[in-house]
Amino acid sequence: MNLETVIGLEIHIQLQTKTKMFCSCSNNSDSQEANSLICPICLGHPGALPLLNEKAVEYGIRLASALNLKINNKSVFVRKNYFYPDLPQGYQISQFEKPLSEDGFYVLNNGKEKIRIGIERLHLENDAAKNTHTANNSLIDFNRAGTPLAEIVTRPDFREGSQARLFVQKLRQICRYLKVSDADMEKGQLRCDVNISLRPVGETNLYPKTEVKNLNSFKSIERAIKYEIKKQTRLWQDNNPPQEQTTQGWNDSLQITELQRSKEIANDYRYFQEPDLPVLIISDKKIDEIKKHLPELADQKIERFKKEYGLSHIDALTLTNYKKTSEYCEKVVSEFKEWLISEVESTRETENEIWESNKKRAVKLISGWIISELFKLINENNSKIEETKITPENMAEFIKTIYLAKVNSSNAQKILKIMFETGEDPSQIIEENDLSQISNESDIEKMVENIIKNNPEQVEQYKNGKKNLIKYFVGMLMKESKAKANPKIGEKLFKKKLK
Ligand code: ZN
Ligand code: MN
Repeated sequence: MNLETVIGLEIHIQLQTKTKMFCSCSNNSDSQEANSLICPICLGHPGALPLLNEKAVEYGIRLASALNLKINNKSVFVRKNYFYPDLPQGYQISQFEKPLSEDGFYVLNNGKEKIRIGIERLHLENDAAKNTHTANNSLIDFNRAGTPLAEIVTRPDFREGSQARLFVQKLRQICRYLKVSDADMEKGQLRCDVNISLRPVGETNLYPKTEVKNLNSFKSIERAIKYEIKKQTRLWQDNNPPQEQTTQGWNDSLQITELQRSKEIANDYRYFQEPDLPVLIISDKKIDEIKKHLPELADQKIERFKKEYGLSHIDALTLTNYKKTSEYCEKVVSEFKEWLISEVESTRETENEIWESNKKRAVKLISGWIISELFKLINENNSKIEETKITPENMAEFIKTIYLAKVNSSNAQKILKIMFETGEDPSQIIEENDLSQISNESDIEKMVENIIKNNPEQVEQYKNGKKNLIKYFVGMLMKESKAKANPKIGEKLFKKKLK
């Protein structure tokens, strides 16, 4: 039987507002003492009244807009009732029938194809406290209780684990670009549940799904889906497909899913409207205002980088992966452009024509040095691009020396390393370390003649057909010139003289 995989995601994202969802306690519990950021509201004391955090609503609208969701002018908070030690009220304040936003989509581009993923809804709710289970104790830290959450529910539009994984990665990137959350899975700032079922190809109805929880990394999302596909395929082949909905937990050390509960004992949350909060009214004016101030997102940047700079898809993808990198790169480009326009004397060309005729080579050089060399230095030093001592101005100047062939590429690497370590500007480094390239032909010619004179054996072999000795000669030249001679001119001269 030909089976098709049907996957939908439910994702919770902690919104990194200054204060919690319904009280004024700090929402930043990083390295804070347990149970130090609490008050009667987030502890759920009877009679304590919640007050909605407007910033959390704004963050929710930003995220919803990026996912093309329709923002509801009226939405309603409800009580979702259940008992658990991390939930002192006995209910979570959430949204159910009238959520903040509904009916959106995201176009997932995996480099090969574009897949339209429907987004059913994004609603707001508060987080529970954090449980820590040790051998002898169960500990509860209420610092997390009341953290604003955005819950995103997708439609079952994923067909492969890799698509689901990519979507969650893109979602993290969107959160970071929007500055609504770092969405770090390891820290629990982004938590993902996967719903998965199979069906015979051609059918459109849905069969009972398995919900997999406790997925705390991108890798585990993909692995859990792979595992479930295998398991459920076997059940279908044995003519025994899943009869009821189940909840499974992902066991990361065993790399398997484990049954937590089945449908019969599923929760009945007894939703009802939260009497302590008014209906949430959001005007069109406010929605427009928030949408107007949304930053350019990575997907848009990728398209612009390709169009404006002529970059390849993969280079554009790499440079926009992290927002700060794309900003750095753009600053370097604009510095370089300014220089190019002011330095290149031309009576025939307009500024724009000068830039257009040089830009492809320039941007390729800039992106190449950032991606391969600057990233390498940053990674080796466990650093970040926003921490680098190389200012965009100095990086542009560095690219300029290469563009004008003032240094060769092996010395350029040395220069960049010194720039990275000291923050000095490249021309100073070139001067101090005597690294400028010799491109004067007559200077190189003298060295070439010397090398030919001193290596009669190799010259003989070269002339007898061992043409790859050209590398040996150029190597000698680089040694002689302390790596300063322009190797291309050197090679040209050797070939000419040894003919
Ligand atoms: Zn509080
Ligand atoms: Mn939820």
